Amino acid sequence: MTTNDVLSFLNELDADVRKELDATPKVEDKDQIDVATLPIEARRWHRLSDVVAVVADLKGSTKLGVRKYPSSTASIYEASTGRVVKIFNSFDADFIAIQGDGAFALFWGELRYERATCAGITIKTFSESLVSRLEKRWPSLPETGFKVGIAASQVLTKRLGTPRNPAEQEPVWAGKAVNYAAKAAQSTERHLMMVTATIWEKLHNNDYIRYSCSCENGPSDTIWYEDTIESLPDGDTDSKGHVLKSSWCVNHGSEYCEYILKGKRKRSDVEHLRKNSPNSGMRAAIESKEERERRDQRARRRGL
Ligand SMILES: [Zn+2]
Repeated sequence: MTTNDVLSFLNELDADVRKELDATPKVEDKDQIDVATLPIEARRWHRLSDVVAVVADLKGSTKLGVRKYPSSTASIYEASTGRVVKIFNSFDADFIAIQGDGAFALFWGELRYERATCAGITIKTFSESLVSRLEKRWPSLPETGFKVGIAASQVLTKRLGTPRNPAEQEPVWAGKAVNYAAKAAQSTERHLMMVTATIWEKLHNNDYIRYSCSCENGPSDTIWYEDTIESLPDGDTDSKGHVLKSSWCVNHGSEYCEYILKGKRKRSDVEHLRKNSPNSGMRAAIESKEERERRDQRARRRGL
């Protein structure tokens, strides 16, 4: 392309932009959509009122050596990201994409919060066993594992790209959900799951999610702690996140997951815990102590 060509190309792009801005796209409100039939040529967008996004981010992926250790890096990607997609599928994700160093899924329709949360907990549980296997195979591996983030928002969607070439088309998901879920994942550590304030609002009343099982001196209400989602705008209420430490229990995991997916919320063995207001001073003190310990632990791991 000569300079002359690129300039006329830019003029052509500018004419396209003017044409787009003069036209008013049609927006249709939907509860459900079929991604495969989203419009590509028509200026018709769909607005979903509430979409839950789950992002799984592979920690330390930039340190995995493509130059020095291409085959171990390739195995790690295959084993990890491939399995995360399988997990999203098994919880009936409505849309799945590989993105950056991990994957994300979107959930809408019935029990979207429950399906998204169970997928997230399954990924963090999987992450722990994945890493112990990887470290056995490659003992000097940089610290890796999945960090999970969940967020929700209204989303505007349409397929964009080259008409008549499906290989160059992708649905876009305009709205906070994917971006905020990615930021939540990035703000936390491997094997942990961080949710935005919007998500916590939906989850904290579900006893199967909020409290631990009866193993290890349980049930207890200390499996979640409050933490700020760094990099979200100041004053955005969603930045007050909650982090889940625990994973599916070998004794109760299957049962709890099944109950959550059936929409059950109440357990009879946690009434004494429910009475403690989650915002009481005592609870806040416990949480900040935990956060402190976690920070110290992180620092120790980094050898500080
Ligand atoms: Zn248990």
